[in-house]
This record gives sequence, structure tokens and C-alpha cells, in this order.
Amino acid sequence: MLLNDDGTPGTTIFAEMSALAARTGAINLGQGFPDEDGPAEVLEAARRAIADGINQYPPGLGMPVLREAIAAHQKRFYGLSVDPDQEVLVTAGATEALAATLLALVEPGDEVLTLEPFYDAYGGLIGLADAVHTTVTLRAPDFQPDHDELRRAVTDRTRIILINNPHNPTGTVLERETLELLVELAHQHDALLVTDEVYEHLTFEVEHIPIATLPGARDRTITISSGGKTFNTTGWKIGWLTAPREIVGAIVAVKQFLTYVNGAPFQPAIALGLGLPDSYFDHIAADLAHKRDLLAKGLRAAGFEVGSPRGSYFITADAAPLGFQDAADLCRRLPELAGVVAIPISAFCHEPAARELSSLMRFAFCKRVDVLERAAAQLAGLRSLR
Ligand code: PMP
Ligand code: GLN
Repeated sequence: MLLNDDGTPGTTIFAEMSALAARTGAINLGQGFPDEDGPAEVLEAARRAIADGINQYPPGLGMPVLREAIAAHQKRFYGLSVDPDQEVLVTAGATEALAATLLALVEPGDEVLTLEPFYDAYGGLIGLADAVHTTVTLRAPDFQPDHDELRRAVTDRTRIILINNPHNPTGTVLERETLELLVELAHQHDALLVTDEVYEHLTFEVEHIPIATLPGARDRTITISSGGKTFNTTGWKIGWLTAPREIVGAIVAVKQFLTYVNGAPFQPAIALGLGLPDSYFDHIAADLAHKRDLLAKGLRAAGFEVGSPRGSYFITADAAPLGFQDAADLCRRLPELAGVVAIPISAFCHEPAARELSSLMRFAFCKRVDVLERAAAQLAGLRSLR
């Protein structure tokens, strides 16, 4: 992905598919970003911060008001006590938190284990850190990792077990037993747990369990999140991590040379968001569950086989029942066939998983109801192609 064969810069699958949507006028259910603004009071807080002159470099760890809000959020939702002055770091989105964490904590040749399919940045960042990427494949219908495979995959060479829960692209929420097993394996092999929980507030019918809350996990866990998904502000790039003090120190040492600091006026705004009442957080999950159901129904009616994701922005659909084994090919043709853009799951895989999961594609449902209804109506035409 970093460079094409001819040496020109590669683009991410998300940029490529969003460009395809823009070029063809198709409905973009590819890149996961909401098409509606988040809470007015959060937006207003950023405007106010700019007007109030909060426009210069914030402190290296992030503004105290945001670090305190992050610590209060971890306490309020998960009962976790976090020291806002030593155990929290504000980053340029979850992406920078992941980058700084991997660059700080792995040595060249160390193994980093992820679930597969994996969010594309994981592959790129593990490569930048010169580490070895190992994976355990998630399979339909429930996309839960097999415990024996996990046991085999974690070895003394594993430096980091990097999970993403709720999971992009499958929408899976990991079972408590799986999280417990990962903690046990991390202890057995002296590995660190890095958990990307950017969809923490977007679970449906199930509770989000941060792995850091499990017995024995906290001291070896780096928990990463972001304001983008929770407040519909993906363009603000305000993320954070919480971890034990010494680990935060090591990560800060890298972060200071990546971006130094980021997003001053957005930091108090996200702080305000994190303190919104429970009703806000309940509402965003319920709203998204409704959108998931709407798109799932449309995809089923069109002839796809789909499960019911329990979290995230995404639903995975199998195009095989429609006669398409190669979802990458279908995704390239989908704008013409149905005026919709989706992303092949193979884009989140290496071989051989890419081949094994080749008929799967990811649709984002974090879009307006009328947009999803239009997409469903257009996709219905695919049935006639069979
Ligand atoms: N992790 C996952 C699983 C994601 O889906 C995304 C993208 N939305 C990110 C990290 C990146 O988050 P941010 O935009 O805050 O960098
Ligand atoms: N996280 C978003 C997705 O999975 C996209 C972020 C990006 O474009 N890098 O669609």
C-alpha cells in the first residue's frame, strides 16, 4: 500500500473507493464516516474555543480539560481509575495513538498479532515499525476468533496482541471469554495488549467490555479511542490512549516527533462531548442499530447473505449467493450496477485470508436513513442479475 509497483505513492482502499463514489456519483457506503453532524453543543464548543483564542500549541500530553474528561469517562462508563496527568495521552486520532504505540513498543522482528480481516492502518503501521504481522482469521457467520487458533498464534515472539473491539470491518464484538483468554495468553508470553476501541459507544444489544477492566489486564494494556465515531467528528482527529504511566512515557517520546501536539480548539469540545448525559450515548447506539437493520434488510432483499453485526459502523455481506465469488470485482462494478460503493473484505486481509474471504464485502451504515433507503432500493436490482 505504501508504494505502487512503479514507485508512485499508494492510496488506501478508503481513499480509492471514496474517489470512485465521487467520480460516479454513487452512494458512498465505502469509507466509514457519518453524513450528518454530531451534537450541536460539541460543535459550538469548538467554535467558542477558536473565538476565545485557544489556537496555539496545547500541552504535550493534551489539554488538561480533555485529559480529565477522558479519565472521568473511563470511570463513569467502565469503573476504571486513570490518572489524567500520567496515564492519558491525547493524539491525532486513534491512528496516531496506534502509530506511536507500535513505534514505541516493538523492536524490529517482534511479532504483532491482529485479527484478520484487520483495519488497514494496522498492516501499514506494523510494517513501518519493522515488526512481523501475524493474524488469526475471523470467519462467517459470527466472525469470532477460534480459541485454539489464538492459543497457537500467541508465542514468546509476540510482543503485542492488537485487538479491535468492536471490530472493523466485521462488526463483531468479542466475547468476554475471548478477552479473558487474550489476557491469559498475554501473561503467559509476556505480551502487551493494545486495544482499539473507537467504536466503544456503538454496540447493539450487547455491552462493550474494555479489555482493561478484566482482572490482570490493566497493567499491560494500552486502550485507544477517538472522538471521531462517538461525536460524528471524524475530521477533527482527536484521539487518545490510556495506559500505565511508564508505557505512556515511552509512547509520548515517539508522539512528540510525530505531531508534537494536535487540535487545540477541538480538545475542549471533545471534553464537553465526553461529559454529555447517558441519554446521548444511548441515542447514538439506538439510532445506528436502526440503520444497521435497515441496510441489512435491503442487502438480504438484494440477495446477499448478511449477519447482524453487534457493533461498529459496518456490516459484512456475502456476494456468493448472488453468483459473485470475487467481491473486489463486484465492488469495482457496483457503482455501475447499483449506484453504490462498498469495500471488499479482501482489502483488509493478506493472503491466504484474502482468498478465503474473497466473496465478502463491507457496507457502512453510518449514513442518513434516506440515503440507506435509496441504497437498498438500488441494490435490489442486483437480484435480477442472477
Ligand atoms: N481504528 C479503527 C478500527 C477505525 O475504524 C478507524 C477509522 N475510523 C480508526 C482506528 C482511525 O481513527 P481516527 O480517525 O480517530 O484516527
Ligand atoms: N475508519 C474508516 C473506515 O474504516 C476510514 C478511515 C480512513 O479513511 N482512513 O472506513
